[in-house]
Parts: sequence; structure tokens; C-alpha cells
Amino acid sequence: MIKKITLQNHVLEGACPVCGDDMILHKYVHYFSLFGKALFPLKIIEEFYKCEVCKSSYNTDIKDLIKLDDEKKQLRFEEAGKLYAKALIAAMTYMAVIDGHLDEKEQQSLHAIIGKYSNIADELIEIMDSVKNQSNKDDFVYKLIKKVHQELSIDSVLALLSEAVKMLMADGKIDKNELKLLDKFILEANLPKEFYYLLISKVKKI
Ligand SMILES: [Zn+2]
Repeated sequence: MIKKITLQNHVLEGACPVCGDDMILHKYVHYFSLFGKALFPLKIIEEFYKCEVCKSSYNTDIKDLIKLDDEKKQLRFEEAGKLYAKALIAAMTYMAVIDGHLDEKEQQSLHAIIGKYSNIADELIEIMDSVKNQSNKDDFVYKLIKKVHQELSIDSVLALLSEAVKMLMADGKIDKNELKLLDKFILEANLPKEFYYLLISKVKKI
């Protein structure tokens, strides 16, 4: 069983690149569990800082990043934001076309995401069209997800995948192929298999 632990006394004050609030250290820990109860920790899977206000999250590298001068810092964080948007649109498009067609609701969700990141709309449209036409050629989609894991955080991958799954479930259900794909995404992003169940439970709560 995987649990997310918050370390309240490890705070980076005012470090959130998105809203400027404090970032708190969190970790995903693999527990030995029995009958659905976590008994004792087996190992730490990954640590990351998360803003409790806007929910942005970053690898522990953020400790070094915030020491950079303002211009460099700004640039790095902008790049990270763009990367998230690109990976999200790629993953959503790929999940949407997996059943062979893109229905109206899925199109609307994709356009809503593009609207949210209007400053890079052209790039996102290009990515969406490329995934529509060439699917996951050369692991294009997986590579983006992997990059989100490396450059943002494990929690960002989870946030991204649950956003994508929410779109899939807009019609109230999620089919077998979509679940299989989700499983594959988790594997490709180098997340432990248990994250699949974590993600499913996260999505069901929404
Ligand atoms: Zn924030």
C-alpha cells in the first residue's frame, strides 16, 4: 500500500513558483499492509515539495532552483509549466483516440485545456494534431510523461493522469482499453505499479 505522508516541519517559505505560498515536503511511502491496513513502512518511493494552496509540486531539486537569480528561476518555472501542459494535452489526446474516435465531449475537454494555457495554444494544438495523426509514434507521449516525472515531480504525474482520466470519465465510465493504457502510462513514467490503484481511487473520489 502506498501512502502520502506530509512532513509539516519541512517548509520552503514562499517558494511556490505558481502562487508564492509555502511549499511543504511530502513523501510517498510503500507500506507493508494486511487486510487494507498499513502496518509498517517498507521504503520511501519519492520525496517532493507541494504547495498546499495551488497544489503545484516539485522534486526536491526545487531547493536549488529557488537559489537561482530571479530571471533564471522564472524561466525554469515557465518551462516546467509548459512541459506540464504539453504532456497533459498529449496524454489526453492519446487516451481520447485510443478507442478509434474522438467524440464531442473529448474534443471539448481538449479545447478547454488549450484555452487554459492560451499563451502556448499554437504549440498545444500542434501536439494534439500530431498525436491524433501519429498516435504515440516513437513513444512521444510516454517521453513527455517521463519528463514531467523528472523535471516536475511524481505528484505532478499523478495530477496529470487524474486530469486525463476525468476527461475519459466524462461519459460516466472508463473502458478496459483506457484502463490498460493508464496502467501503461504509470509503467512508462517509472511509477510503481501500486500507483495505478492509488490513481483509480483518487479518480473515484472526484
Ligand atoms: Zn502555490
